Amino acid sequence: MKRSAHRFALFGNPVGHSLSPLMHEAAFREMGLDASYRALRVEDPREIPEMMERLDITGASITIPHKSGIMPHLNAVSDSAVRIGAVNTVTRIDGRLTGDNTDWTGLVRSLGEALEIGGKTFIVIGAGGAARAAVYGILQEGGVPVIVNRTTKRGEQVAREFGCDFRPLDQIGMTTGDCLINTTPVGMFPDTDASPVGGTVLRNFEWVMDTIYNPLETRLLKDAAAAGRRTISGATMFVRQGAQQIRIWTGQDPPTNLMARVVLERLNR
Ligand code: NAP
Repeated sequence: MKRSAHRFALFGNPVGHSLSPLMHEAAFREMGLDASYRALRVEDPREIPEMMERLDITGASITIPHKSGIMPHLNAVSDSAVRIGAVNTVTRIDGRLTGDNTDWTGLVRSLGEALEIGGKTFIVIGAGGAARAAVYGILQEGGVPVIVNRTTKRGEQVAREFGCDFRPLDQIGMTTGDCLINTTPVGMFPDTDASPVGGTVLRNFEWVMDTIYNPLETRLLKDAAAAGRRTISGATMFVRQGAQQIRIWTGQDPPTNLMARVVLERLNR
């Protein structure tokens, strides 16, 4: 088999259903780069640096469950990834590994294309890595995040760390804001009938975003559209976080519209 000049990979567990190989390979082809991108399942994040060296991989996406576990095994980590506590992008230059987080930029760009973030209130459901990326990004852009979580202790801890308010999930009905963002896995395939909140709650928000992208239109987004709210899909965030990875790895602007098209085509199938 021909060896590509530039090699990229996704590390996680599981990785079989990821859309990243499809999206990144389409982008590299369009950019005229002699590059490959493969999904590699790893049990332990400590395996990743050695595999990158041995397989001559210069850029990697990191997914569940290794986004935090990889951090101590890198030579440097960006300030944003340290604050978020998760790395989803690793770059290898001269044998040195640098970690970054593009989930927050992906989320902020998706939001920013839909509404002005500065001065607006964002109710973020969840307190895990995606929630932390959302809160970090919203604060960077001058927005006001509020954490809403099922487990009070975890939600309060994240809120304290970022200096924002916290509300328990069972009080979401009394919470208002400009935009509601779901960062929990509730509603993800195959549990597509589930939603983190009841439909009536959605009247309290003008915008509703789901970070889930499979299915493309989650129950939450369907309920929001039915209630006349404006919606933002997790696929937009997924494409923008991937595009930012390509910028970091290659210094070039990726074909974001093409990346969105291949992802949407696959998800619509
Ligand atoms: P995580 O660290 O495991 O956090 C999950 C959060 O969801 C926790 O706060 C948890 O609450 C809450 N949760 C889980 N099940 C729940 C339930 N049944 N009811 C209420 N709350 C529940 O996960 P993560 O890394 O943040 O990822 C979360 C999701 O983000 C993923 O499933 C993925 O769809 C999405 N994501 C999307 C992109 C993108 O590019 N579009 C990128 C990254 C992540 P407790 O604290 O109470 O346990």
